[in-house]
Amino acid sequence: MKRILVTGGAGFLGSHLCDRLIKEGNEVLCVDNLFTGRRSNIHHLLDHKNFEFLRHDITWPLYVEVDEIYNLACPASPVHYQFDPVQTTKTSVLGAINMLGLAKRLKIKILQASTCEVYGDPEIHPQPESYRGSVSTTGIRACYDEGKRCAETLFFDYHRQHGVNIKVMRIFNTYGPRMHPQDGRVVSNFIVQALQGEDITIYGDGKQTRSFCYVDDNIEGMYSLMNSRDGFTGPVNIGNPGEFTMVELAELILELTGSKSKLKFLPLPQDDPMQRKPVIELAKKELDWEPKVDLKKGLESTIAYFDQLLQKENY
Ligand code: NAD
Ligand code: UDP
Ligand code: UDP
Repeated sequence: MKRILVTGGAGFLGSHLCDRLIKEGNEVLCVDNLFTGRRSNIHHLLDHKNFEFLRHDITWPLYVEVDEIYNLACPASPVHYQFDPVQTTKTSVLGAINMLGLAKRLKIKILQASTCEVYGDPEIHPQPESYRGSVSTTGIRACYDEGKRCAETLFFDYHRQHGVNIKVMRIFNTYGPRMHPQDGRVVSNFIVQALQGEDITIYGDGKQTRSFCYVDDNIEGMYSLMNSRDGFTGPVNIGNPGEFTMVELAELILELTGSKSKLKFLPLPQDDPMQRKPVIELAKKELDWEPKVDLKKGLESTIAYFDQLLQKENY
């Protein structure tokens, strides 16, 4: 049995990871400042003998005794990471320094939840790990993109300089149950709008693309990466190569919900990437991983989740 620290454990991906780690028979220390995470995501775990929750901001040092670290703390939706951009950069950079300092002191393995945003608005399509990216240092997404890029740098320098055992995962757009209904990302926005009969808000002409990965596939990839062969550091793309325009996504969600909502076109936010699709050959080779859930199947369970949630009072 291992004692595993999950930062950001009350968030969307973090809470699913906590479930998985508990199921595998581990003890989990979930650390979260509840900025975008919710107690309700981990409510079912609070009484579990192997689960502990600590409300803490990882921009501050953390002295605990654990065997492994998954570093997921960081708001992931543009709406939320742009709300307090300075705190977003601090979370990625100071948070990485503190968690790497902890990993260095304890001589333990640490996994970083990095992102396809390190590729920025890519000039290469699809994106392999070797692509160095096209990121604005000054735009409204930079607090997230550059924070995550600097965190990757810190991971590789702690690895080279201090021998820390690192695993770096570049996550592409992931969706599923437990996304916050006001999260602001496209899948939850469209589903909530469709279920409530509101207009579907498409930014720009809706021809920009994203590749959407279902949460269960993501967690399987994350777990496989943490437990991959010694010496394999990544960075490794984890995402679903199925690529869709935002109009296609909206139409599929309208079909699956049977909603009569209309498409409403709004201005495209600054620096919004035009296309995004992962090359996943490295994950296939090193982790024997590939996604199993297609968009339609994943959306069906996500829609079922939001349908139930929206019927509750005070969701
Ligand atoms: P989320 O917003 O649901 O979860 C992030 C969690 O981190 C929240 O519980 C939040 O309260 C917590 N947090 C934020 N700042 C913190 C701080 N300073 N100290 C402690 N806790 C803090 O987002 P998510 O989708 O679950 O994303 C999890 C991780 O995966 C993030 O690091 C994100 O950048 C990365 N990621 C996610 C996606 C995706 O599509 N879901 C894509 C790329 C990368
Ligand atoms: N740190 C932490 N927990 C630990 C060990 C370190 O939070 O168990 C933090 C500490 O605040 C430190 C940072 O991690 O500033 C980086 O640690 P490192 O050992 O690299 O740096 P140093 O302590 O030499 O500044
Ligand atoms: N988007 C949209 N309507 C929304 C929310 C987002 O059209 O209500 C678009 C957004 O402009 C982007 C894409 O959907 O082009 C994915 O946005 P999201 O915030 O989910 O993720 P990211 O841009 O970080 O990949």
